[in-house]
Amino acid sequence: MAVDRSVPPATYVVTERITRTIRITELRVRPLGEPMAYRPGQYVLAGAPGDPELRAYSVANIPRPDGELTLLVTRVPGGRVSTWLHESAWPGQELAVVGPYGQFVADAEPTRSDRPALYLAAGAGLAPVLALVEEAVSAGAAAPMTVLFSARAPDEVFCEGTLAYWERRYPSFRFFPTFTQTAVPDELHGRIPVVLAELFDDLSATVVYIAGPWPFADACAAAVRALGAGERRVHIERYQHDGVHPDAGAVLDLRDAARSAPAGDLLVSGSPGSPAVS
Ligand SMILES: Cc1cc2nc3c(=O)[nH]c(=O)nc-3n(C[C@H](O)[C@H](O)[C@H](O)COP(=O)(O)OP(=O)(O)OC[C@H]3O[C@@H](n4cnc5c(N)ncnc54)[C@H](O)[C@@H]3O)c2cc1C
Repeated sequence: MAVDRSVPPATYVVTERITRTIRITELRVRPLGEPMAYRPGQYVLAGAPGDPELRAYSVANIPRPDGELTLLVTRVPGGRVSTWLHESAWPGQELAVVGPYGQFVADAEPTRSDRPALYLAAGAGLAPVLALVEEAVSAGAAAPMTVLFSARAPDEVFCEGTLAYWERRYPSFRFFPTFTQTAVPDELHGRIPVVLAELFDDLSATVVYIAGPWPFADACAAAVRALGAGERRVHIERYQHDGVHPDAGAVLDLRDAARSAPAGDLLVSGSPGSPAVS
C-alpha cells in the first residue's frame, strides 16, 4: 500500500519487544518528538524508516504521557512489513509511524458507560479491544463488559495476565477465550458465531465492537445482528487479509454511511478504501 505522503511519518524507537505467541510479537515504541494524540481503538501506519510501504497496526494501549504505543504484530508469511517488524524491529530500532487513523472508537458519553459492551476479537484484533477496555475501566465504566476471543488453541491466547487482572479488579469485566480446534475442559469450544448464542440471548441493548480478519469480522457481525444488536451499535474493524476483498464495494458504501452518521451508528473502518491507505 502506498501512503499519503502529505503527512510525513514521525520517528519512533522500539523500547521493548515481547513474543506473545508463535505468530504475534508485541512492540512498544516511543516517539522522538511529541506524543501522538489518538483515541483508544485507532490505528497507525508503521514500517521501516524510508520505506514508502507502511501498514496499519492498531494501538493496544490508551495514550500515555511519554507517547508510548503498544503494537501487536502478526507475522504474515511473505508479508513485507510484518516480516520486517518481526525480523528487524528489536529494541533500539527506529520505526516510521504516522497517524492516528480510524473510527473504531468508543461510543460518545453517556452511551458508553451505561450500556453493556461486548468485544469480539481474533488474533491481533485483540489490540484495539485492549485499548478500548483499558479506556472503559480507567473511566470507571460500571456496565458489564465482555471480551470473547477466538483462538485455535490455548497457545494463541495472549495478554492473558492483563485480562485476568481486569477480571479480578473490575467485577463488571469478563474474558472468555473460545477454542476452535482444541477442546479444553471448562472452556468454550467453537467459533464465536456459534458460542455467542450460548452466552447471550439478546444483544439489543449492547454496544458491540468486532476486530479481526475480514471473514471473522463479517461472520461475527451477522451473528450479533441475529441476536438483536442494533445496526447503530455495532462497530467493526476489519483487518485486510488480501489485496482486494470481494465485498470492498459494499464496505465502502457502509463507510460512506458511517461518515455521515452520528456517533454510535454502524462504523466500519480498516477497509482497503481507507483514505490513509491505498
Ligand atoms: C485498520 C487495520 C488495522 C490493522 N491492525 C493490525 C494489527 O494491529 N496487527 C496486525 O498484525 N495487523 C494489523 N493489520 C493488518 C496489517 O495492516 C497488514 O495487512 C499485515 O501486517 C500484513 O502486511 P505485510 O506488509 O506483512 O504483508 P503484505 O506484503 O501486504 O502482503 C503479503 C501477502 O500476505 C497477504 N496478507 C496481507 N495481510 C494479511 C493478513 N493479515 N493475514 C493473512 N494474509 C495477509 C497479502 O494478501 C499478500 O498476499 C491491520 C489492518 C487494518 C486495515
